[in-house]
Amino acid sequence: MTETLEGGCLCGRHRYEITKPVTATHCLCESCRRASGGTLVTWVTVPPGGFQWTTEPPAFYVSSPKVKRGFCPECGTSLSFQHENEEDVDIDVTAASLDTPEKVAPYDHIWGNGRLVWSPLDPSLPVLPGSHRHDG
Ligand SMILES: [Zn+2]
Ligand SMILES: [Zn+2]
Repeated sequence: MTETLEGGCLCGRHRYEITKPVTATHCLCESCRRASGGTLVTWVTVPPGGFQWTTEPPAFYVSSPKVKRGFCPECGTSLSFQHENEEDVDIDVTAASLDTPEKVAPYDHIWGNGRLVWSPLDPSLPVLPGSHRHDG
């Protein structure tokens, strides 16, 4: 049985739960930097069918032609990343919005080519130059 992970935004208006096993990665791309205001964003990747909003869904911003980013319009927390108009695909959720983020363990960094030079990295993890997923 998989443990359910829960999380949500700073003000609590938008909450979610994850019911399938996840992986986690640090994304160093510029789009994630601007969307979050941080030097990198750590994502947990949830397989199809393993994620649901337990409140009403948040607002979405289309950050590149096929990508929408979920965020709370009240408090501004970045919450999700998914390919638009595709229901049966992975959804990425910001690891730091989990109630128990210490339960996930990132395994690499992606978009090293877009890295901010002073962004901290975990020296024990590989840095990939790009990624097949975070294209915006
Ligand atoms: Zn909020
Ligand atoms: Zn990114």
